[in-house]
Amino acid sequence: MPSSDDLGRRRSAVVARGVSSMIPSYVSSAAGGTLTDVDGREWVDFAAGIAVTNVGNSAPKVVAAIKQQVELFTHTCFMITPYEQYVAVCEELAALTPGDFEKRSALFNSGAEAVENAVKIARHATGRQAIVVFDHAYHGRTNLTMALTAKVMPYKQGFGPFAPEIYRVPMSYPFRDGGRSGAEAAAYAIGQIEKHVGASNVAAVLIEPVQGEGGFVVPAAGFLPALAAWSKQAGAVFIADEIQTGFCRTGSWFASEDEGVEPDLITTAKGIAGGLPLAAVTGRAEIMDAVHPGGLGGTYGGNPIACAAALASIETMRELDLAGAARHIESVARPRLEALAAKHPIVGEIRGRGAMLALELVVPGGIEPDAASTAAVAKAAHESGLLLLTCGTYGNVIRLLPPLVISDDELDRGLTLLEQAFSTL
Ligand SMILES: *Cc1c(COP(=O)(O)O)cnc(C)c1O
Repeated sequence: MPSSDDLGRRRSAVVARGVSSMIPSYVSSAAGGTLTDVDGREWVDFAAGIAVTNVGNSAPKVVAAIKQQVELFTHTCFMITPYEQYVAVCEELAALTPGDFEKRSALFNSGAEAVENAVKIARHATGRQAIVVFDHAYHGRTNLTMALTAKVMPYKQGFGPFAPEIYRVPMSYPFRDGGRSGAEAAAYAIGQIEKHVGASNVAAVLIEPVQGEGGFVVPAAGFLPALAAWSKQAGAVFIADEIQTGFCRTGSWFASEDEGVEPDLITTAKGIAGGLPLAAVTGRAEIMDAVHPGGLGGTYGGNPIACAAALASIETMRELDLAGAARHIESVARPRLEALAAKHPIVGEIRGRGAMLALELVVPGGIEPDAASTAAVAKAAHESGLLLLTCGTYGNVIRLLPPLVISDDELDRGLTLLEQAFSTL
């Protein structure tokens, strides 16, 4: 087997520089909470491929479902000759997403594509154009979703012009907004929308219930419900982007449930199919069905193998109670992180929910971001065999996103490596 060094040399001759990797080790296999590289080195996985392998890599049921499907047929295109697996995934989405109303779903390949389609649907259903998004938001890298995403470097730098009719308003971010309550932060954001956009022009309010790439920002309680209520009153579509938070990550099937919010539309992707590319828009039948036949689709959207993997992933989440597993991960990790914060005043805040936890690093005593120490901790973690991601508008947030099937032993080892990484500062 070629070594990571060999592969790195081959890579630099043929792979575009714009597609970068966090670490230079090449994977040979992965399962549970552990990845193994081609050099035989093992890694504790606190990344889950960015919140994708919630059921673990090569989860047994997912592998079996893929094998079975791949021998039956690999692709027909649902827009030409449909198949049951697509319908069954939409049935699961209707049952699992919050809200006891008639729902419809449409399937796509990536999160960005789902977000793009949610915007298309909201505009079509309302006959309006304006889309309201938030500070620190991340919604993808396609042209429309770049415009919806907040952070310029690396996501938007040099890639304009961007799509019009997108308006950004302040997010509830208790650590950085002076501790505004959810109601206060919502009133402020709503005031901005009403003054700068006009309620009657808003097609959709699009928000991550807990922000992902933007820094695992958890809005103050009441912020999401207030925005959902305002959207309803304004005749705007309330869209929850649950691409990172969905499928048990925060300790519920969907993070919207944690605050009793029933979004009009929900976008999902990442955790839905155990690693296969699948995404969805799910929501109120009258909004989804506003679009004419043929208005939505794509060659590969709802590929049968990806659908089979999704059905097996969902079954695994149910059987193993992975929402409960996410809560268990929090109950183990949070006290360890709090002890870490007590020891290292550089940790300004610990936040997150379920198996979506973060530490924000600052100059002690204030809120000035410390991106350099964040990078140093991540580097020390990587050198010691812990796969750890950073995030945040200021690059100063360390995030924990383990597979939900991680064992207590792996979790303990990962947390110990994280503690050791902090000791190197
Ligand atoms: C990852 C992500 C996306 C984009 O998904 P891709 O599959 O990478 O296109 C959109 N929204 C959120 C919240 C995400 O975390």
